[in-house]
Amino acid sequence: MRKWDYKNIEIFDIAQKVGFDYLKPGKKLYKCINSQHHKNGDKAPSLSIRQDGYFFNCFTCGIKGNVVEFAKISLNMDKESVFKWLKKEFPSTPSKSFSEASFGTKKKPEIQKFIDISSLEGMLGKRTDDIFSRKLLDFGMSEAHLKSYGVAYDCKNQKTMFFYKNLNGRFTNIKRVKFKADLHRDKSDPPRFLSEKDGYKINCLYGEHLLKEAPLSKSVILVESEKTAVIGSFIEKENIWLATGGATHFNEAKAHVLKGRKVIIAFDADDAGRRAAIDAKKILDALSISATIFDPFGDLDNGFDLADIFLDNLQKRILNKN
Ligand SMILES: [Zn+2]
Repeated sequence: MRKWDYKNIEIFDIAQKVGFDYLKPGKKLYKCINSQHHKNGDKAPSLSIRQDGYFFNCFTCGIKGNVVEFAKISLNMDKESVFKWLKKEFPSTPSKSFSEASFGTKKKPEIQKFIDISSLEGMLGKRTDDIFSRKLLDFGMSEAHLKSYGVAYDCKNQKTMFFYKNLNGRFTNIKRVKFKADLHRDKSDPPRFLSEKDGYKINCLYGEHLLKEAPLSKSVILVESEKTAVIGSFIEKENIWLATGGATHFNEAKAHVLKGRKVIIAFDADDAGRRAAIDAKKILDALSISATIFDPFGDLDNGFDLADIFLDNLQKRILNKN
């Protein structure tokens, strides 16, 4: 028999137990369990539960978390009581059929797939055809630096590719980004990861594989975008620059690789970035990882990040040379 582990319990299982009649299968959004804190009682549902049943979040009031957090809020219990309740209500690991009987639409998460680089042949283009790499090479960045961060060019879709490589050196995902000549993203064509539906997860930090070679005395600068990590590490070589891949992409599972290091969180200058930075610090604090938030942007609220400062300086350097 499997050892009792709350992680085998799904949010759908809890919802059924506590009798949330507004949690109906087949619907994408549910009435928030925190609806008393919503202006209109959450009449237009804003709570989403991930298909695998292990994570929920509310787009309106911002509550989110795993099955324990869900039980805490819906039962108004503290953590200790929640664990007692879970053990009592789910003495053995709930079987797959238990939840699927009532919530037939959801699927168990697939096993992680890794990327087979050889399958990408024919898609990988010349580095100098990539607007992103070309510009950085012009600024003096080395080919080796771009390679170490897994930057490549998808000549088929004419996009820059950022390969996500985990601590064990396996490729877990690719983000494709369309850049403009000023190295800002082309907003009309949003970045894309390989799809979770196809088994590709975003379950590591961008640049994470670099931790393996770096002594613990090196701090980590945690930023949002891959671009910032690539450029930041070119300008400031003392620390290891890693990216979350998006303001809301950091979580506890990804934080463990940072144990034993100091972490400086340097997210974007906007509301989402500042909120995410506070959340990231909480996650790190809970794991006893020393973390500080670095926000040099003052009142700016335009989504600026460190790469914008660095690119500006690199541009000036070139001007002064000529
Ligand atoms: Zn809510």
